[in-house]
Amino acid sequence: MTEPLPSGSVIGILGGGQLGRMLAMAAARLGYRTHIFEPGAAPAADVAHAWTQAGYDDLDALRTFAEACDVITFEFENIPADALDVLSETTPLYPDRRALEVSQDRLIEKSFLRDLGLETAPFAPVTSDIHADLKMTGVPAILKTRRFGYDGKGQARIMAAGEAEAAVASMDGAPAIAEGFVDFSKEISVIAARGQDGAIAAYDPGENVHDDGILSTTTLPAQIAPPLRTDAVLIASQILNALDYVGVLGVELFVTPGGLVVNEIAPRVHNSGHWTQAGCAVDQFEQHIRAVTGWPLGDGSRHANVVMENLIGDDVARAGTLAAEPGVQVHLYGKAETRPGRKMGHINRVTGPA
Ligand code: AMP
Repeated sequence: MTEPLPSGSVIGILGGGQLGRMLAMAAARLGYRTHIFEPGAAPAADVAHAWTQAGYDDLDALRTFAEACDVITFEFENIPADALDVLSETTPLYPDRRALEVSQDRLIEKSFLRDLGLETAPFAPVTSDIHADLKMTGVPAILKTRRFGYDGKGQARIMAAGEAEAAVASMDGAPAIAEGFVDFSKEISVIAARGQDGAIAAYDPGENVHDDGILSTTTLPAQIAPPLRTDAVLIASQILNALDYVGVLGVELFVTPGGLVVNEIAPRVHNSGHWTQAGCAVDQFEQHIRAVTGWPLGDGSRHANVVMENLIGDDVARAGTLAAEPGVQVHLYGKAETRPGRKMGHINRVTGPA
């Protein structure tokens, strides 16, 4: 295997939110420095070696940033193609641009998954004839913008054909995809990593509960039949190999009577993987840093049952009370301003041995 990057090397991280912050802390534990690229507020920069505060359209700033880094990774997927071109002129980028291109656009993503033989919701690009599109998906359906959607934003439900026009109008002309409604009993996700040597380490799937489109809790173990756990891990492995992927990937899945249906993939560490901080010897953040710097992947087996709970908006006021409870690990992101819907921190509650 290749030698890992030496101590003191600089890992560039595009995006300065909480995921970048926790990546930077994991990088520091392995002897690395981190350089954050983030135009807005950057809680990650508080724990990093350097911060470039510039926009993703500032190609000079991107070039200078890339020259200062030994490897570049990212904590969010909406990075413009021009920025990727500039960065990859000088510096390796993991995961690479194919992983980004697939996950940036829901139509490309769904087509990629279907071509791998994986189950997805029935889908169709939204055209000028929405009723023809809905023939392919069935009703009820959900319209989603192809790009830049997150936490349920940029989505509209069509419960009856008569609601179709209003749903299309709510997309504001953005390219969109229609998806048939999946009748699921649970939502789970699996977090998995692939190293530069092609080795794969997958975490146990967690069971997710959303509130208003935002992840609220992830519970381990997921209450699903054991074969579905294996299926989830195999699905993640298949995606990682197909993309020749390096780093951590999150895969969101619906549990249905017919088996698992893939909802979406995230080419990065994922909120539903925060439980690994309390449940595994090597958490998702360290695993990602290991992968992008050429270390062997670490042990991702689960030694504890854990419930991860997001602290959203005013929930953060409960942090002090929660901190006194048995088995609770508190993570706060250092964000200056509390706003409704804003992820301020999370807790991992260890509920017993695995
Ligand atoms: P997404 O942004 O694709 O993760 O969607 C946000 C949430 O909407 C998911 O976590 C599901 O709860 C729900 N959802 C998304 N797509 C579908 C679908 N095709 N059928 C049923 N529910 C869905």
